[in-house]
Amino acid sequence: MILGGTSAGRRLAEALASDARFAPVLSFAGRTQSLERPRVEHRVGGFGGVSGLVRYLERERCAAVVDATHPFAAQMRRHAALGAEQRGLPLLRLEGPPWRPLPGDRWLEVADMAQAAQALGAAPRRVFLAIGRLEIAAFYAAPQHDYLIRAVDDFPCELPRARVIAARGPFALAAELELFRRERIEVVVGKNAGIAATYAKLEAARALGLPAILVQRPRVPAVPTVEALEAALAWLSELHARSSRRGV
Ligand code: NAP
Repeated sequence: MILGGTSAGRRLAEALASDARFAPVLSFAGRTQSLERPRVEHRVGGFGGVSGLVRYLERERCAAVVDATHPFAAQMRRHAALGAEQRGLPLLRLEGPPWRPLPGDRWLEVADMAQAAQALGAAPRRVFLAIGRLEIAAFYAAPQHDYLIRAVDDFPCELPRARVIAARGPFALAAELELFRRERIEVVVGKNAGIAATYAKLEAARALGLPAILVQRPRVPAVPTVEALEAALAWLSELHARSSRRGV
């Protein structure tokens, strides 16, 4: 069972699907209107909490769980840890480290969206807001700013001075530079996802000398974690070899 939501999860599922030792199923929450269907076996939608996940893992006779959700999918990550533990299944998280500031970066790291909204300050600014659509409400507390919001799907936004652009990563530096210049962006707000596909906005901010407000990753249970796809494949190969030796 691969809990998806990132391109790494998708790539892992595709790699396993062409390997006769494995029968991967990739799971999506189904949050986006325009899910790009993978070429591998997959399912869409919540499980119905931890108990639903446990029932699913049992029914589908899953032998291992790889959590390749987005670093901000905190609830699913908690459920994965609990569900795998309750079923006695090995669990691996696939994620890279958070981004670290480089010379020239002007970052303010904050704990949550409410702090990010507050950190924008009282004076109106032109803000590039790349946090997805689900937590926009935190910025209702700072309606004086002009927001350019980028999210996977378009949505009606109740902020008085906001525009939404729907776009799916990966994003390229040249396009981000062009967008920020054209829109006269003054500050960038995002999540410290550590995912390559969405890093270009921070490179563009650095190049233009713009400040960035980054929300830190939420706390989730500590579980065995690898950063690279190859390491996840090696972990699964080792699991498979061990269960073959036991004749399972
Ligand atoms: P979340 O708050 O951690 O999860 C909420 C609920 O959504 C979970 O309890 C679960 O429902 C369902 N869910 C989440 N991921 C699932 C998966 N891979 N397969 C099946 N059900 C799943 O998650 P979220 O932040 O809303 O993110 C939803 C999805 O979008 C995740 O797959 C995540 O990787 C991806 N994503 C999230 C972000 C972000 O910034 N949060 C960004 C990019 C992509 P039940 O309790 O009913 O099982």
